[in-house]
Amino acid sequence: MPEAAALPSAAPVPFLDLAAAHAELEPALEAAWRRVSRTCAFIGGPEVEQFEQAWAGACGTRHAVGVASGTDALHLTLRALGIGPGDEVIVPANTFVATAAAVVLAGATPRFVDVDPDTLLVTPDTVAGALGHRTAAAIAVHLYGQIPDMDGLQAVAENAGIALVEDAAQAHGASWRGRPAGSFGVAGCFSFYPGKNLGAFGDGGAVTTDDPALARRIRMLADHGRGGSHHDHVTVGTNSRLDALQAALLHAKLERLTDWTAARRARAGRYRKGLAGSSARPVERAPGCDSADHLLVVRVPARDALRDHLAAAGIATGIHYPVPCHRTPAFLRFTPGPLPVAERAAGEILSLPLYPQLELATIDRVCESVRDALEVVSR
Ligand SMILES: *Cc1c(COP(=O)(O)O)cnc(C)c1O
Repeated sequence: MPEAAALPSAAPVPFLDLAAAHAELEPALEAAWRRVSRTCAFIGGPEVEQFEQAWAGACGTRHAVGVASGTDALHLTLRALGIGPGDEVIVPANTFVATAAAVVLAGATPRFVDVDPDTLLVTPDTVAGALGHRTAAAIAVHLYGQIPDMDGLQAVAENAGIALVEDAAQAHGASWRGRPAGSFGVAGCFSFYPGKNLGAFGDGGAVTTDDPALARRIRMLADHGRGGSHHDHVTVGTNSRLDALQAALLHAKLERLTDWTAARRARAGRYRKGLAGSSARPVERAPGCDSADHLLVVRVPARDALRDHLAAAGIATGIHYPVPCHRTPAFLRFTPGPLPVAERAAGEILSLPLYPQLELATIDRVCESVRDALEVVSR
């Protein structure tokens, strides 16, 4: 009797595949390593300067300052703006904790606000509603790769006389009405954490700005408070520089960013088509925004059950973020009271696998698995 053919088990689907990105660039990445290994210019130097120029160019700003992480990009920007004890900074509740941590690290107080129910982005109205006499700045977080209403936010900030800072850690390559992320606020703060759309081989970050004095102050704070020369410490700074090796690797990867962003957009579109009509609703497109599609986030009430089903089918997922900042133990003392939109969303959001090299057929399989799972879950 012939044996029943075993069903071919489908390959697991990772949430992210950074090795696939590196495979596209191996010679350039190895050349970057060799250059730094031979010159031994590890701190500052031409690799950092060239990448900073290229990154400022990509963001349409006059300056970019490399720093050690996205958290430091935010923290040092706030400090360089003179924001500290006694000041309040408005922060959307559903963001990575680092946005709010940067405020506390600067000595200021985060004032959490709710977000738009469709896009989960901060809105001019929620920011306007939280203004007070201590408000010094608002941070616009470009969550999941989408940029909020920057005209509206800039108008609110200008009227109130506060600084508008962009947390663009998830938005490399995004634009709003044709302008790139990082070019709207007094400063744009980027992370090059490996999993971001432009990721280093470790930690890294940058601040983009048109303001030369602000760029200078951030650079000074990030480099032991150095003024003009090596032993000229004019302020108490910290050590938060972008390594030359990371800058060289990032510069090599930057060559592919436009293509990778296009590939992300195509894949996000494929998901939206594949999930149309199902009860897993992708977070709405933000008006005026060309998303960087950092994450493909769907909302579904039976989120945890769906996640378990997908895990059983070998499909990795993430949650960004399971607890809104103002409900995490670290920030409970800053909780302003209930923020219902962010709180509800936290229980419903699920991030599906998305990266530029993800096969379209795999997306179709993931969509099918989501539909199958939802049938079981909703029965
Ligand atoms: C990743 C991230 C940060 C922090 O960046 P690090 O480089 O990890 O310090 C800040 N804000 C948002 C929205 C992020 O996604």
